[in-house]
Amino acid sequence: MANPDLMDKLVSLCKRRGYVFQSSEIYGGTGSVWDYGSLGAELKRNVKDLWWSSMVHQRDDIEGIDAAILMHPKVWEASGHVEGFSDPLVECTNCHRRFRADLPEVEGGQCPTCGTKDVFTEPRMFNLMFKTFMGPVEDSSATIYIRPETAQGSYVNFLNVQGTARQTVPFGIAQIGKAFRNEITPGNFIFRTREFEQAEMQFFVKPGEDEAWFDQWMEIRMQWHKDLGIDDAKLRFHEHGPDELAHYAKKAFDIEYEFPFGWKEFEGIHNRTDFDLARHQEYSGKRLEYIDAPTNERFLPYVVETAMGVDRTALVLLVDAYREEDIDGDQRVVLGLHPKVAPTKVAVFPLVKKDGMPEIAQKLQADLRSAAIPSFYDQSGAIGRRYRRQDEVGTPWCVTIDGETAEQNSVTIRDRDSLEQVRVATDKVVAWVRERLL
Ligand code: ATP
Repeated sequence: MANPDLMDKLVSLCKRRGYVFQSSEIYGGTGSVWDYGSLGAELKRNVKDLWWSSMVHQRDDIEGIDAAILMHPKVWEASGHVEGFSDPLVECTNCHRRFRADLPEVEGGQCPTCGTKDVFTEPRMFNLMFKTFMGPVEDSSATIYIRPETAQGSYVNFLNVQGTARQTVPFGIAQIGKAFRNEITPGNFIFRTREFEQAEMQFFVKPGEDEAWFDQWMEIRMQWHKDLGIDDAKLRFHEHGPDELAHYAKKAFDIEYEFPFGWKEFEGIHNRTDFDLARHQEYSGKRLEYIDAPTNERFLPYVVETAMGVDRTALVLLVDAYREEDIDGDQRVVLGLHPKVAPTKVAVFPLVKKDGMPEIAQKLQADLRSAAIPSFYDQSGAIGRRYRRQDEVGTPWCVTIDGETAEQNSVTIRDRDSLEQVRVATDKVVAWVRERLL
């Protein structure tokens, strides 16, 4: 169900509590570029770490790499981006803003900014790659592109990685990194931005085995999102029809989430065939075939790609987690983030600022720090308000040191979602939390 209010509330919460700030805000902001604050950076890092762990550390058939953002300009000719990576664009002749021709308002003939009717130019193709110059001379021989996807770094390194890591096909190359697209109509907060981060994995398979692997990867990736605690009912696949397929794709499925602004893609699974390797072989003049032992058969592998947007996944998690609740007449806002992705895992409160409670609380927080469990210490205000502040940023557990702690060597741990409180031995808190994070 579309709920645009929710986006406003979420953007405001993200700014107020240090999840996401507008880039260069003191200068009036940069169009559709965002900075992650201390909590947002943790959320994003958790998403990336979980992805890397599931792709690289927990499998023996995927290698991780970290390729450069700047690549040889021929890469983007070979990949088809110079020629084909463009959107049809129209300009409003009244306010001179440019829009994607496929926006519903534009298709209806009305300018989304000034509201004037029937004033659009004919659609013109607009390349989405950012261009700049390498070195001191600004001429066409120095033109270079800022990568619009991380995938090409994996293709051009296919044989380097295969040989050095001693992998045999089928195997994959995973990568997390920034990508840049000069989007014509960015928006919806961190959903569509001009600078964003991708977590992409290219799985190289023998031609003929691509379809079975494609099905497997669809299932693995959907399950991964469900394991982050995202509501099943808001996740679905969308298959690309013939007019939606990218120039390189034989088959493509999006994983979509039902955002407040409708069902939208946040990960794509693509059968890219041998398009990329064949083109790089052609444009570089270097053989990129794989030699299959022991038959010595030579072939260009097919690629099944899983391409996730890290920022979009962070947005899915935030939207999915946001709840407003009434508890005995008291309103609270909760981010019900899965503990695996929550930025702060535990908040530690002394019930009052006396009777040795702050000292015990600080000692407990030091133990949590030593165990590398992100925690937060708060001794100011009524306990109820301290709980609400943590609910709003998604902290799963709040530990309170009270009058009985010193005597009984125990504290209460309150659960963000069930509101249940359990008493746990003070020196067992670290183990209690760690057990629940595993
Ligand atoms: P869209 O149709 O929304 O422009 P796309 O199909 O071009 O996306 P891909 O090229 O498949 O996207 O990129 C893979 C993932 O990268 C997307 O699923 C998305 O999560 C992320 N992504 C792509 N463009 C952007 C952007 N401008 N801002 C944020 N994330 C993006």
